[in-house]
Amino acid sequence: MGDGCKIDALADRFALTAPTSATEDIDEYLLVRWRGDDGRPADGYGTLTEWFNKQLLGHFYENAGRETLGVRLDSEYEALVGEDELLRAEVEDDLASDGIDPARVREAFVSRSTMRRHLNDCLNGNKDSSTGESDWERRSIDLTLDMAEGRIRDALSSLSAKGAFPDPDSVEIDVEVQVRCVDDPYQIPLSEALAGSFECSESRGSNVA
Ligand SMILES: [Zn+2]
Repeated sequence: MGDGCKIDALADRFALTAPTSATEDIDEYLLVRWRGDDGRPADGYGTLTEWFNKQLLGHFYENAGRETLGVRLDSEYEALVGEDELLRAEVEDDLASDGIDPARVREAFVSRSTMRRHLNDCLNGNKDSSTGESDWERRSIDLTLDMAEGRIRDALSSLSAKGAFPDPDSVEIDVEVQVRCVDDPYQIPLSEALAGSFECSESRGSNVA
């Protein structure tokens, strides 16, 4: 991929810096977190995507003079990317009342696929598979989603050649698995479920939708 994706452009536009004293460089920070080089457990694409998007949201808030307290930002971010349309509309109205255009926020958010490409292609990063043996579960999920994305892209390329689909290079494909508790219609992205405290009221375990 060329020099500079959506993440590079946004990092420039908002002058994003890393939240550690070790480095100011956001790319270096993303690589360290992704590979777990700092001794902490390595983060997957989903976690890093969420982190990046929350940084962006924080900048929108700051520029508009809106309170950027972590707890508030976290819960509003969840609402903005969540499935609950009423809750999302409520938060979007509230943003608008502070002079933040919710459409611009939505447009700025990056997808998991973009983060994956940024780390692998823009930064030429690779994750040493011998580290974090205990993290094979998340790796397996990442690998499965990457494979799904690749196969979907191949199929769309073929459809595109037949004139049945636009050029897939101009389309962002974001593969995300949703999970929900049995009998509960409310779904959340698997990445969120893994990052947070996903619990079912009755301990029947989770159901991959
Ligand atoms: Zn990039």
